[in-house]
Amino acid sequence: MFVNLLKSHIYKFNKMGRKSNLISEKKDTQNINSVESIHGIEQYRLLFENSPLGIFYFDTNSRITSCNDRLVDLLKTDRERLIDLDMKSINDKSILTSINDSLNGKHGFYEGSYRSTVSNVYGYISLRTFPITNTDNEITGGVGIVEDITQHHQVKEALIASENRYRILSNLTTDAASILSIEPDGTLNRKWLNDKLLRQIGYELQEIDTFEKWAKIVHPDDKEAFSKSVEGILSGEKVSLDFRVIDKSGNIIWINNTVYPEKNNDGKVIGLISAVKDISSQKVNEQEIIKQKNLLGLIINNAPVGIWVTASDGSYPLINKMFKDAVGFDRENLSITEKELEYCRLSDKIAMEAKETIRTEEELTFIDGEKHINQILKTPLYDENGEFFGVLGISNDITERKLYEKELNEAIIKVEEADKLKSAFLANMSHEIRTPLNGIIGFSKYLRDYASNDAERMHILDIICGSADHLLNIINDIIDISKLDSGQVKINPVTCDLNKLLYETYNFFYSNSFEVSKKEINFRLSTSLPDSESVILTDDFRLKQVLNNLLSNALKFTQKGTIEFGYTIDESKTKILFFVKDSGLGIPKDKLDIIFERFRQVDDTTTRQYGGTGLGLAISKSLVELMGGEIWVESEFEKGSVFHFSLPFNPIDEKPKLWSDDCSIEKYDDTFSGKKILVVEDDNNSFLYLKTLLEKLNAIVLKAENGQQAVDAALQGDKIDLILMDIQLPVLNGYEAIKEIRKFNQTLPIIAQTANAFTNEKEMCKRIGCNNFIAKPIDPNDLYRIVYEVLANSKTKK
Ligand code: ADP
Repeated sequence: MFVNLLKSHIYKFNKMGRKSNLISEKKDTQNINSVESIHGIEQYRLLFENSPLGIFYFDTNSRITSCNDRLVDLLKTDRERLIDLDMKSINDKSILTSINDSLNGKHGFYEGSYRSTVSNVYGYISLRTFPITNTDNEITGGVGIVEDITQHHQVKEALIASENRYRILSNLTTDAASILSIEPDGTLNRKWLNDKLLRQIGYELQEIDTFEKWAKIVHPDDKEAFSKSVEGILSGEKVSLDFRVIDKSGNIIWINNTVYPEKNNDGKVIGLISAVKDISSQKVNEQEIIKQKNLLGLIINNAPVGIWVTASDGSYPLINKMFKDAVGFDRENLSITEKELEYCRLSDKIAMEAKETIRTEEELTFIDGEKHINQILKTPLYDENGEFFGVLGISNDITERKLYEKELNEAIIKVEEADKLKSAFLANMSHEIRTPLNGIIGFSKYLRDYASNDAERMHILDIICGSADHLLNIINDIIDISKLDSGQVKINPVTCDLNKLLYETYNFFYSNSFEVSKKEINFRLSTSLPDSESVILTDDFRLKQVLNNLLSNALKFTQKGTIEFGYTIDESKTKILFFVKDSGLGIPKDKLDIIFERFRQVDDTTTRQYGGTGLGLAISKSLVELMGGEIWVESEFEKGSVFHFSLPFNPIDEKPKLWSDDCSIEKYDDTFSGKKILVVEDDNNSFLYLKTLLEKLNAIVLKAENGQQAVDAALQGDKIDLILMDIQLPVLNGYEAIKEIRKFNQTLPIIAQTANAFTNEKEMCKRIGCNNFIAKPIDPNDLYRIVYEVLANSKTKK
């Protein structure tokens, strides 16, 4: 339209007689009279002259007849070179088709490169041509309108190049990429650069070209995150989100979608660039890493060892639960001491310098306040560049193991010691037993064959008795230690006159001890309670045994000086504190403890000067402790010793019996005389011994050799006054026999006599109805006393 108008007005303008020879003079001039027309022509001339487009006219010979300044500019030439230019003769023929088209009455068009013949200028042009006709509709020439599109073309090419680069880039970096332009009405117009992935997951592009459609294939668990990200995208944020989509076949695919907003100068979002990447394998790897990490975390935290990493700056990026709990890492005060930490740092340094795992043993204070021995492996850690970044510590608490090792070593030493002791004991024991036996056997034979007078006989008999007592003591000690071991010793507290017991002990040692009489020893007793208040509750038998042990030792190890024993009552009046003090050999400090262990003596060599089994103090210790007390010793080597022991003080408000020193057997005579006593004994010597003792007091002694004979004798109604029943008997043992007799006679006095030291026979005898009990070897005095008491008792009952 514009071109047609232009055509007619240019024509009119030329008729106005302007200098230009633009159009032929032969043209129609009939319409140029009106002033408006003149105005119009002027306007179009201005338009022609100032048009941003190059405009030129040509005649039917393709010769340029006129052109505007813009064309001259555009071709960078002079007007003169253009006017009359025969376009058929130009070098670049690319525009000729369009020129010819217009001369053939059509609209011509050319767009492309063009090199000007007149100026050799090269560029891109867009050329439109139109025919010019006269009123008879004959073609008189043409008009060409040229636009320089070089810049536009360059931009377009740059755009294409950049789009290609995008495409290549997106192919390289993402599995799907698109550019979305936001239309003024807000709709999104998506252009895919790379849609390989989307095709792979089986969707047509139109199935996923909006956010709403995407939302439909997003995994339900990721929908919320997806919606949030869409909000972010639309508000202009750059958003990157990993989420799962379900592909057309129902498989889950992990993708990363990153969307960059494109904004105009006002900051308004005008487009989006979206990149989608299939990260399924990355996610699988990530999940595998997370799984491995969790597994490792579980192992580290549940491992029964301490695990930690000390970073090179001294911090602890990793400490497992076990170690945290052990040293209270999360608490205010770390239980490990500064000195221990210092040692730790030192071993870290050693591991770092060694560049390999080292093994250390370190003592660490745990929150229980105890020092624990830890076996620690320390490994220096290096990153992928070989840079040192810390030390891994793995520690194992070996305190208990160490303790076991120590105990085991001690036990081994003890076993070895015990073995040595056993051999020493056997040798010692053999010596200890043979020594009194030597006296007994040797002197007995000498007595039988060679003793010449009564005085010599008496002297030898004394030696035999002493040796026999000594032998009995050794055997009793061995039995006692075995009974203590098996827990068979029971403490039997009875009413006991303490002062009397001590006086008797004193008298016994004073009158019977070879040491007291032969050595220059001042032997003393000191009691603290008045006789009227000295009745207490205690096991008198065991108390005597302990005192005898201590006094025997004091006498054995003292050549001259003083031996004193006795007791005091402590301030709180709850304990009796006994002591046995001597000015003898004394005990070296390092032996003070071991002498209370069994078989231990200060001198354990074979050349030792003093005999003994090393059992007395061990037995005394056990007995005192069984009675609820303690035993200890104070001693100075070569100066003397004081053995102390305590016992609970349980006074009894009871008058002490009057003491009688009358030990003569004459007082029993009446009671024994004419009494029929049945001695049940299978060993003839033992029978003869008892018969001798009893007949000495004019008793009538009957004999039974087994339990059955005893029962029969009791049944026969022979008036028997008392039975002395041995327990270990053939045919029917003593217990069974007593039980049988008790079935038909409950009053006949029966005294059990036994040599069995281990079973609790005293108890047993009482239970089955014995009147008393006497242990073998039978001391004559004991026999007389016990038989006397039983007979006297039965007499009063009758
Ligand atoms: P034994 O006297 O039979 O050797 P004990 O157990 O009674 O056994 O004593 C162990 C050891 O303790 C003795 O061998 C002796 O070395 C030391 N000992 C005990 N009492 C005294 C004491 N009063 N003076 C010096 N040493 C003593």
